[in-house]
Amino acid sequence: MVQIKERTIKWHSLSVADAYAKLDSSDSGLSSAEAMSRLRRDGKNVIEQATRTTVAELLLKQFNNYFIFILLAAALISASLGVLEGSMQEAIEASLILLIVGFIVALGFYQEYRAERELEALKNLLSPLASVIRDGGESEIDASTLVVGDVVKLVEGKKVPADCKIIRSNQLRVDESSLTGESLPVEKILGDLDESTLIGDRTNMLFGGTAVVHGHSLALVVETGMKTELGIIASSLQAIKKEKTPLQERLDKLGKQFGLATLVLCVAMFLLGYFGQAKSFIEIFMISVALGVAAVPEGLPGVVTIALARGVRRMVKINCIVRKLTAVETLGSTTVICTDKTGTLTKNEMTAKKLWADGKMYSLLDKGVGTVGALLDENGNKCGAIPDVVKKQVLIGVLCNHATMQNGSVSGDPTEAALVSLGAKLGFVKSSLVNDYERLDEIPFDSKRKMASFLYGAPDGRYVYSLGAPEVILGRSNRIISAERVELLTPLLRDKVLATYDGLASDAYRVLGFSYRPCADGVLLEDLEPSDVFIGLVGIIDPPREEVREAVSKCVAAGIKVVMITGDYQLTAKAIAKDLGIFKDSDTILTGGELAQKSDAEFLETVEEVSVYARVSPSDKLKIVEALQARGHVVAMTGDGVNDAPALKKSDIGVAMGLSGTDVSKEAADMVLADDNFSSIVRAVEEGRGIYDNIRKFFAYLVSGNVGEIILVFVSSALTSLPVALTASQILVINLISDGLPALALGLDPFEPNAMTRRPRPKDEPIYRGLSPFLLGYPLVMATITLLLVYWVYDSSNANLAQAQTTAFISVAIFELFHGFSARSTRFPVWKVGFTQNKYLLLAMSLSFIFVCALLYLPVNIPYTNHSLQAVMSLTPLPFSLLMTVIAASTLGFIYIELHKFLRCRASLKVSANR
Ligand code: ADP
Ligand code: MG
Repeated sequence: MVQIKERTIKWHSLSVADAYAKLDSSDSGLSSAEAMSRLRRDGKNVIEQATRTTVAELLLKQFNNYFIFILLAAALISASLGVLEGSMQEAIEASLILLIVGFIVALGFYQEYRAERELEALKNLLSPLASVIRDGGESEIDASTLVVGDVVKLVEGKKVPADCKIIRSNQLRVDESSLTGESLPVEKILGDLDESTLIGDRTNMLFGGTAVVHGHSLALVVETGMKTELGIIASSLQAIKKEKTPLQERLDKLGKQFGLATLVLCVAMFLLGYFGQAKSFIEIFMISVALGVAAVPEGLPGVVTIALARGVRRMVKINCIVRKLTAVETLGSTTVICTDKTGTLTKNEMTAKKLWADGKMYSLLDKGVGTVGALLDENGNKCGAIPDVVKKQVLIGVLCNHATMQNGSVSGDPTEAALVSLGAKLGFVKSSLVNDYERLDEIPFDSKRKMASFLYGAPDGRYVYSLGAPEVILGRSNRIISAERVELLTPLLRDKVLATYDGLASDAYRVLGFSYRPCADGVLLEDLEPSDVFIGLVGIIDPPREEVREAVSKCVAAGIKVVMITGDYQLTAKAIAKDLGIFKDSDTILTGGELAQKSDAEFLETVEEVSVYARVSPSDKLKIVEALQARGHVVAMTGDGVNDAPALKKSDIGVAMGLSGTDVSKEAADMVLADDNFSSIVRAVEEGRGIYDNIRKFFAYLVSGNVGEIILVFVSSALTSLPVALTASQILVINLISDGLPALALGLDPFEPNAMTRRPRPKDEPIYRGLSPFLLGYPLVMATITLLLVYWVYDSSNANLAQAQTTAFISVAIFELFHGFSARSTRFPVWKVGFTQNKYLLLAMSLSFIFVCALLYLPVNIPYTNHSLQAVMSLTPLPFSLLMTVIAASTLGFIYIELHKFLRCRASLKVSANR
């Protein structure tokens, strides 16, 4: 049972005034200086989780590989036996093995340590902001710097940053499922509660980690960080398990199978070597275990994590913040990207350009956003005075929203900002209007209702003003106003409005309709009968982002379908989708209304043809994701609002908007776009494909080398005409130089050139698909050639063991050296992708080469003994001509792989040419 500390202060039973007094705060918040000193006193407002693996744990983990353990034990026994029996050579060799194993453990440790730190670095990429009142003004600060006594503003979609007491609230509903498990949103109100009230019923409190799903509130921070309810729970819970990506899981499984097979082989080899070749027990035992250590690609999981985490870091530079490592992998197999229109495909720089009222179309002369402009009439002449009907419409636009204007710049929702800015251009400044117009009530805009209504006390009475999607506004109107009078909205007049609306929408304008209705009783209610007076339309332009067109055509080349999902009108959506290349004439547009009519089965039939969804509500997104997934697609879906969260969660890659998105959507997402830009998604897909390719590269490189070594050592120990091709220490050295740095370097390789011109990789394609020349062909070539060389040298040198083993050692080392370059592409001949592009690989290969040369030729003695390095390693200089022959023969693996890739490329070119 989790022990939860009793709070000393029962904040929920205090009045707001008492809470203020206790925390020495007020409606105007704290001063920055006071906040600073409280931050120093109480610490940061963060929930710490004790999930960090310690260095000792990491180190211990390296001995998880049972081969290493056995080898260490064997070496230790052998060394002590050697010393006891006075056989120096054996003792030194055993010590050397200990040393090499030490290096291998260090390398494994380093790789995992790096992987761990890379992951840690990713954690803090997305720290939420909080709107706080300090020094009497409102500002946005990093939520981790909040202190008790701060007054914070919370709106729909915000995460509650700490435990707070409500000071003021309006239709506030909060999702507390993260804390209480209650899945339905809870109403929150200002009020007094009894001291004994349980946490789930403390309706006058807001708890850190929960999320505002509706309404807004002003609240006083009463507890921060680990002292919040969430913090108390977190500190008493066990460390959260780190989740692995599907690829990592598959690799783990593969690694286990590989390890088991190796174990069987090692046992078989030991038996064959011991009984067949009558080797000394300890020698053949050591070789078997060394092969076990070498064959298991224990570096793989670490290198995969590093490659993925590195990719995530690189993606930050292209404005993609990946929240889950899995996303990097899934990105590469994305087949459909469903994207919002407004702000993602378009710039979200909205400017009102057209105004239609009293049957006349006016335009705006201006410099886009800003507050300077003039009204032009139908003939393009400046209007002397602004007609009354137009005034009424503009006035509603200015009053009925939450955008604000300060020193000539407007901030807030872009659609609303466009209306405030339109007003300012025509002389209606919001701040001076509020003296005459009193806002009494409101139903703010939401994408489901597709309109907003406001109740105002105007100088001549009370009115409900409405604005929103024109068809919705028309639906609630039964009259229309012109310069002369208010008249009945006849079908003829209605058609005229609709025709104008369609005309504007087809030119890509986002269109809003306006209406009003007197409201004597001053209660804002939905009328059952249409009773509004329709005023007119405003056309807003929101130009597409320039880079999107190219990104869309990249998707087409990459076999990825782009689907636009918008709450906007179908004609507006179509005009923009067409312009961007998303909509082709054979495609279908589906509206939210039509979608609702369709049965699930019918929708499933047509879902592949639809490239634009218009007038949809956020809940439709879920339906769309599900249908596409049922069709076998891997779906990326964008979203920004609270209501988008289910679709973001359901999709394979949920993409939230960094600038305009709510905390709730960000938390539901796998990836956040720092710039809200569609083209960033496409670049992320490209990155995802490239990273996966790179993982395949070092997978191919590591496993092929290991398989080759297994075959080589196994066959040579099974055949009585051959000595065992490599000694234990040689096997370990080769493992050390090929498994470590080159694999890391390949993980950082530049991407293959066709990453975005091939079809998406099937989601559960095994990683070894298409790698048979690497995983089978190459090891066979390497083992065969080396065996032949060993046989030839052994035979012609009167069974000179050292020379034969040196031959094998050099051969394998050179094979692997060239192979590293082959592995730069699993698809293209290396001359297509180049030898020198990856400087890490060049460095790794040079180091390996130098190391091999040093082992062969460096004239050093092992300290405190009179044995040379070469003697202990069983290496001996080869005659020059033999050396050259070995080196020449060792290029055959490289030649085999490259020829294979070349022929396959040519064959696939022919296929595509014949198509
Ligand atoms: P999207 O975000 O996909 O462009 P929205 O749901 O925001 O779609 O908008 C749907 C329609 O609602 C728009 O075409 C416009 O007519 C109207 N609208 C959008 N924003 C507002 C707003 N703030 N106030 C009133 N009406 C709006
Ligand atoms: Mg919108």
